[in-house]
Amino acid sequence: MCTVCGCGEAEAGAEGGQQENLHHHADGTAHSHADAGEHSHQHRHADGTAHSHPHRHAGEHDHSHEVAGVLNYGAGPAGGHAPGLSQERMVRIERDILSRNNEFAQANRRRFADRGVFAVNLVSSPGSGKTTLLVRTIEAIKGRTAVTVIEGDQQTSVDAERIRATGAPAVQVNTGKGCHLDAHMVGHAAERLKLAEDSLLLIENVGNLVCPAEFDLGEAHKVVILSVTEGEDKPLKYPNMFRAADLMLINKVDLLPYLSFDVGRCMEYAKRVNPDIEVIQLSATTGAGTEHWLAWLDKGLARARDERVRTVENLRRRVAELEARLAARSG
Ligand code: MG
Repeated sequence: MCTVCGCGEAEAGAEGGQQENLHHHADGTAHSHADAGEHSHQHRHADGTAHSHPHRHAGEHDHSHEVAGVLNYGAGPAGGHAPGLSQERMVRIERDILSRNNEFAQANRRRFADRGVFAVNLVSSPGSGKTTLLVRTIEAIKGRTAVTVIEGDQQTSVDAERIRATGAPAVQVNTGKGCHLDAHMVGHAAERLKLAEDSLLLIENVGNLVCPAEFDLGEAHKVVILSVTEGEDKPLKYPNMFRAADLMLINKVDLLPYLSFDVGRCMEYAKRVNPDIEVIQLSATTGAGTEHWLAWLDKGLARARDERVRTVENLRRRVAELEARLAARSG
């Protein structure tokens, strides 16, 4: 995850900066080295094949796996590479960050459940039309359901202003160098929003198909938006995101006549990485297909409300039982 892009740098630094030179491989082999300079070493695979490649050391270490002409930096246990960090250390940092994030996510989830809030985490690359879709969604839904929005961007509050123009409360979260929202940020933003009972919370994540996949914000679902002006092969290129999402919205379908985007192939790629993913085609600009998206949201809202009602009924029953027991004892 983000040890790769630099988000984990603070945590990495806090660990004391001790360099480790042990390198583990996906195939279970490991090698270590302490010196600077250049050497080559062999990788032996489970299938008996082996290959070697040179390593250049200048304090840092280029650690890739070359297969069929591809320099693959994702083959190790950490699934990525960061200059100066061993795979082991990357895994440890990642585990620490994500376990702390998950605690905050659980707290968010409890808060949402207590209020019957249906929370959706919208993820995509930049320019897929998330904010336009949110504006249209709010316009369609605000008469019957309260909607609040958390806007994630590295900088500016342009998107939150667009949302507030619809009348919906919105909190902008600027992540600075960070490339994703985390559950801690969302918890603080939610505090400011004073979430109404049985309402919809739309969280627009930072435009990025990589890191937001790893971060649970306490949402009910991740929804990935892919516009037809992008490549239909995005699900194969960014499988973690399409695996983490429960719904894919194919946006800007009004532009299909002018493009070579193959919707069928895109859906096939998405199902290949996530057989359970639902797909809705729509255009946030023209409104075509948005009724399916709104129906999907309504189903989620109903589920969140039913769960809250059930919890309240269970609590009432429990209180009544305790009161009856107390009355019997004193009477
Ligand atoms: Mg936006």
